[in-house]
Amino acid sequence: MDTFETLKTLNSCFGPSGCEDEVREKIAELAAPFADEIRTDTMGNLIVVKHAAPHPSASRTPSPQGEGAPRLMFAAHMDSLGMIVTFIEESGLLRFGAVGYVLAQNIVACPVRFKNGVCGTVGMDEDSKKPEIDKMFIDIGAKDREEAERLVKKGDIAIYDTPCRMLAAPGKAGAKGKADKGRVVSPYIDNRAGCVAQLLALEKLRKPVFDCSFVFTVQEEVGRRGAKPAAFGTDPQYGIVCDCTLTDDLPWTKHVGTSKVGGGASIKVMDKSVICHPEMTAALKAIAEKKKIPFQTDVLTWGGTDGSEIRKNASGVFTGGVSVPCRYVHTPQEVCSIADIEAAASLLAAFAETKVNF
Ligand SMILES: [Zn+2]
Repeated sequence: MDTFETLKTLNSCFGPSGCEDEVREKIAELAAPFADEIRTDTMGNLIVVKHAAPHPSASRTPSPQGEGAPRLMFAAHMDSLGMIVTFIEESGLLRFGAVGYVLAQNIVACPVRFKNGVCGTVGMDEDSKKPEIDKMFIDIGAKDREEAERLVKKGDIAIYDTPCRMLAAPGKAGAKGKADKGRVVSPYIDNRAGCVAQLLALEKLRKPVFDCSFVFTVQEEVGRRGAKPAAFGTDPQYGIVCDCTLTDDLPWTKHVGTSKVGGGASIKVMDKSVICHPEMTAALKAIAEKKKIPFQTDVLTWGGTDGSEIRKNASGVFTGGVSVPCRYVHTPQEVCSIADIEAAASLLAAFAETKVNF
């Protein structure tokens, strides 16, 4: 699977929280050649199962459940932010509310599109001193309410309609003189990048020692609502969340995080929703060192991830996280590094193939 092409494909899918169907179908199609089993739960979470490889000394074929191998759940959310139509003005302009943490200042003049292909741009009321969502509208070019209502209904959701592009040419020398695979700008790197990392990890897996559930969760952006039922359903002893993390590599960053774009897979210590199990953090670091996978430390005093729901499942789960550092998170133009996505994928796969003793 090509990392950039897969990211671009997933970014072209419509998938705001609660409407993840298109992303789910595409991920299921991409995962199918490498999966033992694929199912969707009632919430809409996509669960891609890869059973533990039979032990070489096993005298008979193991059960489909992998002869009691420990269960490992990976989680990357596939939903995105959106803007939901609440009112259609006489003029044909659409008032909307936020689905997830959409910041008004990030969406001024943003191109958007609805599931049916209707496109628009985000405008502001003239008297708005500072952007506020309830003083903004989507202009789909309709001349009046009647025309707008033929195209869009109340409750329809718009998503960012910005392109997914490479920023730096592949192969160009990076800061350390090594070939840099380049950085990409795109909407919804949070968290299609995590979905790509999980797909690449699934593709890489040869001899997992865990029964692995690669879960592509729904409704993370509206409060991590998908991960909890997914954890309940897969009942893991071990969990790894793969999501984007905020970076600390821009002039205005205030050290709320520790990650840098291009610094490798970022091994989570905590975010505002979860404190990872120290054994998991240590194991991930040790594996990254052993396999020479570039890594860094992810401490984020802000934000939240599906890791919180996995960590608290049942009587507790050994949970860690592997993050993809992302600049301008939740804007229509997020930036990350292709090499970081690939490092995250390598680390997920390497963990699944390593026995842990806790
Ligand atoms: Zn996210």
